[in-house]
Amino acid sequence: MPLQEEIRSSKRPFVIAGPCSIETEEQLFTVTQELYNNPRVKYIRGGIWKPRTRPDSFEGIGALGLSWVEAVKKEFPKPFCIEVANPRHVELALKAGIDAVWIGARTTVNPFAVQDIVDALKGTNIPVLIKNPVNPDVQLWIGAFERFLNADLTDLTAIHRGFSVYKHPKYRNIPNWEIPIALKEHFPDIPILCDPSHITGNRNLIQEVSQKSLDLDFDGLMIETHPTPEKAWSDAAQQVTPETLESILSRLILRNSSEENFDIQLSHYRDQLKTMDDGIFELLSRRMQLCDELGDFKRDKNLTILSVSHWMRILQERLESSEKTGLSPKFIRSLMDAIHQESIRHQNKVMNQDLADE
Ligand code: PEP
Ligand code: MN
Repeated sequence: MPLQEEIRSSKRPFVIAGPCSIETEEQLFTVTQELYNNPRVKYIRGGIWKPRTRPDSFEGIGALGLSWVEAVKKEFPKPFCIEVANPRHVELALKAGIDAVWIGARTTVNPFAVQDIVDALKGTNIPVLIKNPVNPDVQLWIGAFERFLNADLTDLTAIHRGFSVYKHPKYRNIPNWEIPIALKEHFPDIPILCDPSHITGNRNLIQEVSQKSLDLDFDGLMIETHPTPEKAWSDAAQQVTPETLESILSRLILRNSSEENFDIQLSHYRDQLKTMDDGIFELLSRRMQLCDELGDFKRDKNLTILSVSHWMRILQERLESSEKTGLSPKFIRSLMDAIHQESIRHQNKVMNQDLADE
């Protein structure tokens, strides 16, 4: 059965678990045995080749690990997936009878690398899981799917693993949930898994991110699992033991994504929200009309559109006056930024009619 179908037809969450990297034959056997015995785990993962950001990190055991995977699968026959980053990896993975491959975040960013993998997989029907690119670019992620689809490789699944940022107080990679949501809008039939291990970089946060992804209607999870996480050769801080994995999975609250039977109660809320949104749009439209008039005035008086000191002052004022509303300062800031950008665009249009729009 295609993986896509298996994910859709199985009880949520569809779980893939296994070590970040395959390190030794013993490590692989120990963890595989435990995951084999956990019926919640449907696929086992293990990194054979590890594209790492820095060259002094462990870059994978290489082809030797594939012979261990072949051996372990004989004893514990559960489907096994690995990462491939070039045609040579594909060739060796296919030869070793690997059940599915995933494209890592550092590969999805590179269209030529993705195309090389597509060409190497053409003609097979192996399932492919595509992680988001390291940068928050949904088009690049969509483009990787399109390359596979163009080659009739259709058993595709997405993995959301977050996006690189320069220092984040909480996460290793920020989730930017709006990006996987945009991917779902584009490919509503492609299943999507969340990889809370790489998003958080911290095993203590895996529970909350897993829950959030399920609440956003994700189909499943890929969670790095290691027999002795703190001794792992890669990603030690984010891996969990098979016991912790079971505890995380058993504590997840599974909510219903079907709204059947609740239409009337839901529309009680949604109708009011619609009326409120209409009111907000009406007000914003009036605000922009006023900005057009302001633009006329500034053009006549030869004033610049932006006065930084004025902008800083009103931003401060709005933040202060919004305190009593219960809206978060972060939200007010991003809302004010969006409104301000649009106000500038309106004034620019009025003041520079002969020039380009933006
Ligand atoms: C991995 O899954 O171990 C990995 C390297 O992931 P990513 O490509 O998301 O960084
Ligand atoms: Mn990893």
